[in-house]
This record gives sequence, C-alpha cells and structure tokens, in this order.
Amino acid sequence: MKFLSFTKLTFLPVFALLLSCTSAFGAPHRYTVNVDYTLSRLTVEAHYSAPVHNIRARSRNASRFMLDVRGCDDGPAIRVRSRRLLLPDDGVKCLKYTVDLSRAAKEYRGARYLASQNIVVSPSLWLWRPALDDDAEIRVQFQLPEDIQVSVPWKSLDGDNTLFAILDSPESASAPAVFGRFDYREITVPGSTLRLTMLSGNTAMNHDAVVNWIRATATDVSLTYGRFPNPSPQVVVVPVGGGRGTVAFGRVVRDGGETVELLINPDGDTAEFFTDWTATHEFSHMLLPYLDSSFHWISEGFSQYYQNILLTRSGAYDAQKMWQKLYSGFERGRKSSPDLSPNESTGRRGRNSRMKVYWSGAALALMADVTLRERSNGKETLDDVLDRLQLCCLPSSRTWTGPELFTKLDTLVSEPVFMPLYRRYADTAGFPDTSDVYARLGLSVMDDTVSIEQDAELASIREAMTVTHSPTARWRDRLAADD
Ligand SMILES: [Zn+2]
Repeated sequence: MKFLSFTKLTFLPVFALLLSCTSAFGAPHRYTVNVDYTLSRLTVEAHYSAPVHNIRARSRNASRFMLDVRGCDDGPAIRVRSRRLLLPDDGVKCLKYTVDLSRAAKEYRGARYLASQNIVVSPSLWLWRPALDDDAEIRVQFQLPEDIQVSVPWKSLDGDNTLFAILDSPESASAPAVFGRFDYREITVPGSTLRLTMLSGNTAMNHDAVVNWIRATATDVSLTYGRFPNPSPQVVVVPVGGGRGTVAFGRVVRDGGETVELLINPDGDTAEFFTDWTATHEFSHMLLPYLDSSFHWISEGFSQYYQNILLTRSGAYDAQKMWQKLYSGFERGRKSSPDLSPNESTGRRGRNSRMKVYWSGAALALMADVTLRERSNGKETLDDVLDRLQLCCLPSSRTWTGPELFTKLDTLVSEPVFMPLYRRYADTAGFPDTSDVYARLGLSVMDDTVSIEQDAELASIREAMTVTHSPTARWRDRLAADD
C-alpha cells in the first residue's frame, strides 16, 4: 500500500467495486466446523461472501438439534422456525451455531449397530446454509481433535480430507457424514479414487474382504467404458446386525457429491460379496445422472441391465445365467401391473408395479444396445454412448427428466435410438416386447428356461456384449487420444 501513487489511488474505488462484485458472485462462503472429542457437540462459524437472507437446513428435524445460533458479534440469539432461520431484514454476513451432535446421531437408521467411536449424522441435520446457485460454493474447513476423522461426499480440496467444497447437487436424499474413528481407505480404479469409509460396529467386519469387494466391483463398472463414471465418490460401508445374506442394503445418494451407502451383515459369508449384485447395481447408477422420481424406471432399468452385463464381463456369471436373469426379470416386469405404462408405474408405489419399474428400462437398454451394435456392425455400443454422456455431462449437479436424458443420448449417436423407444413404450400400458430381440440374438426359451443357439442372426453381437475387455488398455488408449 505504501507504494501507491496518487494516480493509482484514484482507481481504488473502481477496484474495490470490482472486488465486491467478485465476492458477491464468485467467492465461496466459508464454514469452519469443530467437533469435540466425545462427538457430542458440533459448532460452526459461517462467513458469507455477501449478506445472505435465507438460511435453511435440509431436514425438517434439524431445528430439534440446534442448541444456539447467533451472529458472530454475539448479538441476540436467532430464532429458528421449522427448517429456517429468522434472520434480520438486512441479512447476515457471519453466523455461529452449535448442534447437539450426539442426539442428532440417533436419527441414523443404522445407529444402534454402531460402536460408540463413530457416528453418522447427515449434513441435512446440521448444515444450515443458503441455497447454492450455479456460481455459489461453500467451503467447509473441519477442525477436529486428534484421532477424529470426518467423511463427507463433498469435493476434497486437501490431502488430509479436512477442507471440502460443497457444490450444487440434485439432493436426491440425505448424504451421510461420518465422524469419529473409522477405517478410511482410498481405492484407485481406472478414472477414479473411491473414498471408502468402513464404520466400526458392535460386531467386527472383515475390512480386507470389503476393500477387495469394493475394488473389484468398481473395476467391473469401469469396464463399461474404461473408467469409473465419478472421479471421487464417497463409499460408506456400515455393519448392521442379522438379516439374510451378506449385503443387506445399498443406495446411491446425490447430495453435495455422490455417495454409495452399503449396509452389510458382518456375520455373513464374505465369499458372497463377489456374487452379490448390490454394489454393482448401485455403482451402475452413476452411469446416468439423477432422474426425477417419475422416471426411476429408466435409472433402475439401466442399472439392472448393467449389473447383469458387468457381472458377466467380470466372470461372476456365465452368459447363460445372465440371459436367464434378464429373461426372468422381463417376465416379472411383464406380469407386474400390465394395465400401467412405465411412466405410470413409477408414480404408484404399489408393490405390484415394482417389477415393472425395475425391468421396463432394462428392456429398453437391451433394445437400444442391440440396435446400436447391429446398425454399426458392432462399432458403436451403449457403452460408447454412456462414455460420451459422462464426458459431456457427469457427474451432474441437477435432476434430469427421462425425455431430457434420452434426447441427450440421441445427440451422441448418428441417428436417434432412444427417443423413438421412449415414444413407443414410456406411456404405453404393458411391457416392452423383448421376444423378437431375444430370438434374433439366438436366445430360445422353453419352459421359462433360456438356451443359447450358436448360429443365430445376431450371435456375434450377443457374444460381444459380454466379452471382458481390459480396462487398463482402453484407459491407456483414451489418455493417448487426449494428448
Ligand atoms: Zn437402483
């Protein structure tokens, strides 16, 4: 400053104005989050890049855990109504608040299975924030006691995982945030480093088996087009008690980042990990953007299709088993609410429509894949189209509709395939007829059992669909092409 001449000083107001514009539209809001050693309290100091007038929490229950909130100048407490802070008319630039973390942790559905050294509390319950538009970003710096770690789905900005950026996202559900002492590993597969958090439960689980399972499954998904669709997803594995099988439940959450949450039975047989489809199905969801709930038949269907294709490419299934599973799924879909169209079936939560939701999109994925391969002599596949979709559009910050997705996919191929299928089937009662494509692929069905005919019209296409190709080779090719 001391070197400024008088002429330069005259530019200062303009310069200051530019700076304030930048801070209003470009600079991130900055949150500093502290957690105490006993995981009972979480305190936040939030500095906004410009005064904000509307601060909310995602969950309706968040206000129950707010212990105190006020401006940073230690003024009067700010009242909370429902999930909103009642802010002064001129907004706030800085907030301090305290959350009852140990009580909020009881909201997590797996809480009773967890050892006390680690808790799961969704940011929906403790992150009070303004809405994020396209330019806005929140940076969160965690200040944690020694030995306490945090795992969130947000973009990590430093090597030791304490500084994160929260970007706009579809907010499809509430993401998990994990605090405490847990086993954290980074798993590298082509195109991605998965951030795996394994929680400690009342019963110990075999962490090495979990790591091998997640690595193998993520590698299977990277076989689709040579790299995993998200460069850095959060993966949270929670040991829960009892139940049948080893993998009890899985889901994808797109909330400030992308998370796969897997609940496993620590007493289960870890050999089952490698034939179980749950993780392959959940990871396959990341091949598409998040679709509005009325189009979940598309996202579920594509995941059903890919989980079967990928488990066959990886060797977990043989080809007969895969075509049988697809056939049986299509039959279940066909019998499910035959009076409803796929678009109608997603709207109704009736148990009878569930199989239509899970399988009608899989039938469309198969038809699209075979059409693409047939008309290009095997040079263009559904894998290639999803590769292009990832390059242009994933991970996506917003919710898509079915027609938006299919229109986009059609722009990525030489001649439309997807919207014609959508127009034909999405609003038509019944189930897409797969008998013709099965017959041409050389898949004959007798007494609900599929057998493979070797000399069928599209036999070479059928075989190409399940051939294992080397992910490393394709990845290397892509890197060379990018140079
Ligand atoms: Zn699913």
